[in-house]
Amino acid sequence: MSEIEYKQEQWRLDDLFPGFDTPKMQRAIEDLEKHLQAFEAFRTKLSAELEAAPFKEILQAYEGLTQDVSRLHSFSGLSFAADTQDQDAQANLARSQQLAAEAQNRILFFDLWWKDLEEEQASRLMAAAGDYRYWLEALRLERPYTLSESEERIINLKDVNGGAALLTLLSTITERYTFQLNVDGQEKELNREGLAVYYRHPNPEVREAAFKELFRVYEADKPVLGQIYQFLVRDWGSESIGLRGYTSPIAVRNLANDIPDEVVDLLLDVSRANATVFQRYFRLKARWLGVDKLRRYDIYAPVVKSEKQYAFTDAVRLVLNSFRRFDPKLAELAERVFAEHHLDSEVRKGKSGGAFCATVGPDLTPWILQSYHGRPNDITTMAHELGHAIHSMVADQHTALTQQASLPLAETASTFGEMLVVDRLLAEDPDPETRRDLLFQQMDSNYATIMRQAFFALFEREAHSRITAGARIDDLTELYSQNLVEQFGDAVSVSEEFGLEWLVIPHIYKAPFYVYAYAFGQLLVLALYEQYLAEGEAFKPRYLKILAAGGSDSPARVLSRAGIDIYSRDFWQGGFDVLKKSVEELEELEIPDSL
Ligand SMILES: [Zn+2]
Repeated sequence: MSEIEYKQEQWRLDDLFPGFDTPKMQRAIEDLEKHLQAFEAFRTKLSAELEAAPFKEILQAYEGLTQDVSRLHSFSGLSFAADTQDQDAQANLARSQQLAAEAQNRILFFDLWWKDLEEEQASRLMAAAGDYRYWLEALRLERPYTLSESEERIINLKDVNGGAALLTLLSTITERYTFQLNVDGQEKELNREGLAVYYRHPNPEVREAAFKELFRVYEADKPVLGQIYQFLVRDWGSESIGLRGYTSPIAVRNLANDIPDEVVDLLLDVSRANATVFQRYFRLKARWLGVDKLRRYDIYAPVVKSEKQYAFTDAVRLVLNSFRRFDPKLAELAERVFAEHHLDSEVRKGKSGGAFCATVGPDLTPWILQSYHGRPNDITTMAHELGHAIHSMVADQHTALTQQASLPLAETASTFGEMLVVDRLLAEDPDPETRRDLLFQQMDSNYATIMRQAFFALFEREAHSRITAGARIDDLTELYSQNLVEQFGDAVSVSEEFGLEWLVIPHIYKAPFYVYAYAFGQLLVLALYEQYLAEGEAFKPRYLKILAAGGSDSPARVLSRAGIDIYSRDFWQGGFDVLKKSVEELEELEIPDSL
């Protein structure tokens, strides 16, 4: 294995298409149209008496169409990510989005028919649908909350210039924001993403200035943004509770995630009860930074600056070896990504920032994008994205409609893969600075993924009920400040401007209660990893079973088959116990004098 040299490279997309304006792509567009017409012909066949065999045929055609669209759209999307300045890619991305939306509209009649079907007929057809079963079941989850066709049409129509329009306004307003920051005597003009880089700056004054600038800009529009949020929350409530009959605002999201209300309540409850774990971490971090008390500006501050660089080929080997130690099959799957040149690791101008893994369908190895700079967190990012790819590949016996895990399970293999690699790095790398850097970064990211998101959801729950009862914008700021006090206790001093933080979180406007899924996923993996450390070999088949299920069943059932009870308080507490242990380990480390 170790003879293979891995080189940083741009990915190859020819497994999809050789390029835009090629005969193959032209044919794919023509085929899509042919397949759509054939699918539309099924419309007359849909009836309560439909037999199992023709039903399956319709499902296969539906799946085929989603694959036609997925290939075209992925090729444009990936080409664009590889070079966001490429005008061909820009134009083709817009065109494929249009194609996807049109295709969606033309097959929508099937979804509507299926959701409307009587329970008895639906059960009969689902029983005969094989691997499509859960996809069909999930489509029908909203059935009890669905209104008549004319009412649904009115809601859709009104939303275009109502809720959706408010979100467009929100983007229009906030995307224009520019932020001024003075760094080492140099005046910088930044967008929000650029500003966020300075929350982790080694200089405490720069960190403080960056946060203050964020809130200065948002506060100027407080009356407008605050009202947009209030309107959206009232609209969410009047539609979901008033018209559709959901029991609470959060229940809408829970149903979409297919997670029972009581499980989400339990998750948030346990998170709240464990705020002290991170408070303890922040007290420790204050000591490492040499201050009496951490300020909110400092929670992402680097504790040590590791200068260590890893050559790309060493990073790949390290990741593959970590996976191989767990199960050789995982390493083989990850190697496939490299062998097929599906990982774009090059650092290039115009390339999209961040990192992602794109699954196109069960018959194609996923594509991964990252810009590899040789730092330890580039290695964990690689492990994370390869984890996503492995998850898809382990589940590739499913249909395109059931391959990919739903949101609460989507980060399982990625986070688990990251933890395998961190453990390897900690065990193998003799450099103490690298180890410390990694450990602290892991805790910072656990904070951002678990505690921060859980407290956003707690705020949202309260905000929805207060707004419905007539709360003013300043009442929400007050409510958010209380939320911060509970979250940070006396471990962190939080200056007043952070009361406005709720205004700057796009998720709470765009997808209410979406955030708790991050905490769900991360805690789940921490608990799984703890089981792995305790049980070793015996754990592995259970874990692989979770991955192999992909999106073919509800999260609760997938996990229960692997012996995990998400209804149990102990299970969630187990995730926090892992974190508590990590904090204790960090407390054991001696703080170097040189800091
Ligand atoms: Zn991920």
